[in-house]
Amino acid sequence: MTLISVIIPAFNEAGNLEILTSRLIEVFKEIPYQLEIIVINDGSSDDSQATIEALSSVFNNFFYLNLSRNFGQQSALKAGYDYSRGDAVICMDADLQNPPEMIFLLLKKWEEGYEIVLCKRKNANQGAGYFKKFSSKFFYKALSLLSEVPVERDTPDFRLLDRKLVQIIKQLPEKDIFLRGIISWAGFNRAIVEYCHGPRFRGHTNYSIGKMVALAATGITSFSARPLHIAIYMGLFFSGLSLLFITYAIVRYYQGHTISGWASLIVTVTFLGGLQLFILGIIGLYIGKLLIQAKQRPDYVIRNTNMEFSTEISSFK
Ligand code: UDP
Ligand code: MG
Repeated sequence: MTLISVIIPAFNEAGNLEILTSRLIEVFKEIPYQLEIIVINDGSSDDSQATIEALSSVFNNFFYLNLSRNFGQQSALKAGYDYSRGDAVICMDADLQNPPEMIFLLLKKWEEGYEIVLCKRKNANQGAGYFKKFSSKFFYKALSLLSEVPVERDTPDFRLLDRKLVQIIKQLPEKDIFLRGIISWAGFNRAIVEYCHGPRFRGHTNYSIGKMVALAATGITSFSARPLHIAIYMGLFFSGLSLLFITYAIVRYYQGHTISGWASLIVTVTFLGGLQLFILGIIGLYIGKLLIQAKQRPDYVIRNTNMEFSTEISSFK
């Protein structure tokens, strides 16, 4: 029988998991496919794990991967993809901002032959503050300017992937993965469906500005060396400018005027000093990536799970 996996990363989502599970089960009552739910507890410090274990004792095919600490949403999703066994894998947030009822449409598109179905938010981030809206806009803008792989705007990690693509994600040796970029890079037939991004049911957002910036940096550095190219152009521009400046100073010297100007000197020195550090930082980002890749550490560590480590679906309860 066709199996559909729904993978849900959860970081402090104790108040949301029960209602999400029951809504998912309602949806699958009307679908002729089998459902497996995999919740990835990404090092929650609230009662999430207790809630998850209670749910797994009530429902068959409710599985969890309890990570040893907070590894971040992307790594949690990677864990979900790695352990999922469905013919199609749907990922969604735990906070009910992604309506489970969209799954009808996702599966319809999948049945039509699309291997990737992305959900595009048609409304603004409801209930989000100005800052969140601004940072989300900035995130997509920076990504589209600096990354060489196009990432569809306003498509959060709410999508369906066919098993073929999940298999590719599983086998990628890449660390510090940026899934939206990988999916864009991978090709395949894709459909985009629009949905209404609801308000968070309980709790508050786990995406601090720091996490958002880190995700944008991962997205850009994973798919492009463009920031390094920009550094080269900036370097060329300023060396050109300084050549002009030197010529001017020499000419003025022979005309009998030495140029005074402590202030302009300080401004230039501090500006260029800052710029150099900034560019060194960019280079550092890339070297950091190489280091992480070279170390070959896993993306996540599982503390415990109720999944048996086997590929046989029938062997699960
Ligand atoms: N999440 C996670 N690890 C983190 C941060 C978030 O697993 O370090 C999960 C979170 O539980 C939720 C999803 O990722 O299911 C999206 O996070 P959130 O709702 O906080 O982000 P927002 O919707 O505000 O962008
Ligand atoms: Mg959310």
